[in-house]
Amino acid sequence: MRACVERFVPGPELMATLDRLVEEPSLTNRDRARVMATRVSRLQGEIPPKEMAARIDQMLPFLEAHADPDVLGSTLGIAATIAAIEGDMDTCILHAHALETLRRNHPEVSGTAAANNLGIAFLAIGAYELAATQFGGSLRLAPVENSARATVAASTNIALAVSRAKLLRGPRVVHQFRPELDLAEASLRSLRARDANPETECFVAAALASIAMIENDMQAASAEWGEMDAFAAHTAEAFIRYFSVVELPIAVHRGDNMRAVALANRCLAPFDDHDLVPLRRVEALRWRSIAHERLGDVSGALEDARLAADAALEDGPGEADILIRLVGDRADLEHRQQRLLDRTSELREQALIDELSRVGNRRAFDRHLESLSVGPAIPVAILVIDLDHFKAINDRHGHPTGDRVIARAAAICTQAGRASDRVFRIGGDEFVVVAETDSLQHARILADRIRAGFLAEPWTLEGIDTAVTCSIGVGIGSTDDLAPILPSADAHLYGAKQAGRNRVHPESV
Ligand code: GH3
Ligand code: MG
Repeated sequence: MRACVERFVPGPELMATLDRLVEEPSLTNRDRARVMATRVSRLQGEIPPKEMAARIDQMLPFLEAHADPDVLGSTLGIAATIAAIEGDMDTCILHAHALETLRRNHPEVSGTAAANNLGIAFLAIGAYELAATQFGGSLRLAPVENSARATVAASTNIALAVSRAKLLRGPRVVHQFRPELDLAEASLRSLRARDANPETECFVAAALASIAMIENDMQAASAEWGEMDAFAAHTAEAFIRYFSVVELPIAVHRGDNMRAVALANRCLAPFDDHDLVPLRRVEALRWRSIAHERLGDVSGALEDARLAADAALEDGPGEADILIRLVGDRADLEHRQQRLLDRTSELREQALIDELSRVGNRRAFDRHLESLSVGPAIPVAILVIDLDHFKAINDRHGHPTGDRVIARAAAICTQAGRASDRVFRIGGDEFVVVAETDSLQHARILADRIRAGFLAEPWTLEGIDTAVTCSIGVGIGSTDDLAPILPSADAHLYGAKQAGRNRVHPESV
């Protein structure tokens, strides 16, 4: 965010002028201090923090001796920020303390910039309450300075501090920031009323949406954000990234998960020196994880949760808290993925099993033949079993009774064979049994057992003793040439029907 709102791009000419000016002998020390401070502030983000810190250290004694308090103040703010970026907490606090003292002794130090810089320093070291207080102070001064930019920066940073604190320490911390949040909201609304500049409006909307999200009011956030292409006018990548992070949860809330994934990708793509700070990456990854999950991509969601945990580990204060929460999310996801896999295999199974007879269906039969055809060549027999005059049974006893006969017939076919024999219902009253045998005689024995099973069954349908018989055609062959076996069995079945039913064909070996 600092990169987005605070960054000045120094014109080379301006820098050259400042370089020249600082050496100008006729300059008073007071003015020289001002030029030095301006120069170093313009270098912010342009040179490595270490180099920046060294430059500031070098010039601070001169500024302390000669600079106006507000000039010294803004430089101390920058110094604190740089130390925080460097992870040098002691130096950060030292500069922060010097700045606080200066402001106490010189209430005239307007210091929006100083307060904002100090706030950013606190933000970087994870001192969110202190940061919010600084931004709040900056905001109280902003109307006096009448700067839209200062208002936007301070309000945005308040939202940023609170959402980070919330992310790290949970939603209960939000109430501690109530005064700053209210101040930010009021300042943004009043800025909106007096400054209709579309660019300002973008930042105002983003900050108000962020505040609404802190309050868990996604509807308000969505309304605040307005149309999805609200920030299309912005061309600076850093701005677009910031807006993308803000919009991400809104897109998920609106159910536009594809857009959410695209926004997250935009935030996460490498981008010169403005890579998202780890906490923002964690946020982007968390939301992309949710969007992936909503799109049905549970593996993608899990992967994002893992990346988010890695990003949380990488840096940032309080990462342990985030990790604990992420691991919680992840465990839940893994559980959900397992359920999904279970459900998928359940569905797959359902798709292969005939509901009525509980044996494999036509699709399962085709799959079975496929699997046999790719395995080693083995001899097989295919029996086609068709109930005799089944239409008449339906007609006499009704369809539901017919259903029970079909279920019973499947059981008879299954019980007649060995465990390795496979039974399928491939049509209305038509079953097949696939058995591993090279002997037509054995296949016929199996078929006869099935036929005998039908004769032995006490078919009492609706209290009426009934005869249910079947005809069976047998075909044999090898799994390396399955194609002719079923037609052969079918032809024999036809023969058995023609010959008077309740028999097995071929009749003799
Ligand atoms: P055939 O001896 O020549 O085989 O005479 P059939 O009456 O059995 O004739 P066919 O095999 O052609 O007829 C099958 C009948 O099975 C037709 C249809 O009404 C009935 N049927 C098909 N599926 C079901 C089902 O799921 N439940 C019931 N109850 N009947 C079914
Ligand atoms: Mg039939």
